[in-house]
Amino acid sequence: MIVTRFAPSPTGYLHIGGLRTALYSYLWAKRNSGKFLFRIEDTDLARNSKEAADAIVEAFKWVGLAHEGEIVYQSERFDLYKSYVQKLLDAGKAYKCYMSKEDLDALREAQSARKERPHYDGRYRDFTGTPPEGVEPVIRIKAPTSGVVSFVDGVKGEVTFNASDMLDDFIIARSDGTPTYNFVVVIDDALMGVNEVIRGDDHLSNTPKQIILYEALSFDIPKFYHVPMILNPQGKKLSKRDGAVDVMDYKREGYLPEALLNFLIRLGWSHGDQEIFSFEQMQALFDPSHINKSASAYNQEKLVWLNAHYIKQASYERLIEELRFFDVDISLHVKKALLIDALRDRAKTLVEFASLVKQILEAPTCYDEKAVEKFLTADGLGVLEQYLVALKGEKSLLLASEFETFTKAFLEERGLKLKDLAQAIRIAMVGSSVSPSIFDVLEIIGYEDVVKRIETLIL
Ligand code: GLU
Repeated sequence: MIVTRFAPSPTGYLHIGGLRTALYSYLWAKRNSGKFLFRIEDTDLARNSKEAADAIVEAFKWVGLAHEGEIVYQSERFDLYKSYVQKLLDAGKAYKCYMSKEDLDALREAQSARKERPHYDGRYRDFTGTPPEGVEPVIRIKAPTSGVVSFVDGVKGEVTFNASDMLDDFIIARSDGTPTYNFVVVIDDALMGVNEVIRGDDHLSNTPKQIILYEALSFDIPKFYHVPMILNPQGKKLSKRDGAVDVMDYKREGYLPEALLNFLIRLGWSHGDQEIFSFEQMQALFDPSHINKSASAYNQEKLVWLNAHYIKQASYERLIEELRFFDVDISLHVKKALLIDALRDRAKTLVEFASLVKQILEAPTCYDEKAVEKFLTADGLGVLEQYLVALKGEKSLLLASEFETFTKAFLEERGLKLKDLAQAIRIAMVGSSVSPSIFDVLEIIGYEDVVKRIETLIL
């Protein structure tokens, strides 16, 4: 069974790059009827916080990727990690190193001066003497001193690291007893049964260290997929300056989670030319061996396009629910279905949708000056006045079709065209000359308010 996981470090918010690898991990597990697990990597007590962890969990709920079982918090597992440190010490695969920070810094400096790679020289690796007094040791793993560590990455192919180039006896537990990042990742992935790891390629250089630890602990080594970064349109690492990187900002900016997920699946993976993937299709088609080998460029327009697509398709209930987040509640409005249908093709985001709804449901408090100048000339105003009089004599107008029949008859009697009146009505209704089908708008607003809004404009 394939078991994947998402393992964010709670340093701030859920980054879209993280969400992308989470999505890939989720889909790959689902496609194989496997398990997708969730772990919060919060061992760095100085940089991690409960708020940040909660924010990530909240963002994860919003996008709707369900994980199996409880969330694993690393901060609750220190005893477990300690027991594995002890196992390695007992087996002679790790050792206590008493070198002080000052000595280590001096060593590195001297190495740099000789143009050597700064590294720990293994001086306590075979130490049998009496430890210096008052020094709390760090625990180091006995890493291979020669040869290579290599693995076949599902995205990058064979990756090889020279032991002598980069793999010193790295620290697995600090002098205060806390375990280090690479160590806990390995313990947890192994104990949680994770056998396929899909993560950003910023972790590529951690992988040989982790492989050394898997081997030292006699755990099975998972299959790794290192996904290239997301770049901005200028080819640089995506940052806050390029737009939203916090997943919840996408919610605040009015994107539907399915649009964001569809956007992210394509950002680094493809299935022919297909752009639109339902969640079911994503689960049926995603295969990490087709992850692009090169970095992907972020393209906001495509996200907007996808969002518009999903807004067009969303059910009434869904949109009513989503709009609540933007302080628009139309659940009790008698014309809510018509209102949604009138607007769903015109809004690219829920923010726009909410503002269009407000524009129709709330009487205008001001009028677009240019529109007024252009359409409310003396003639235009005159026609609108007559229209108001006619309207007042006709109290049974309810449906868009009834408003339409009435208006057309009114215009025909006077030898006028719809264009001679429509914009003036729009200005009266929504404050500008842009609106969905005018008769739909009249039905939504309802006869009494239609009359009131025209009166307000004229009087
Ligand atoms: N906690 C790591 C991060 O947030 C991910 C570790 C991993 O996927 O192995 O970057």
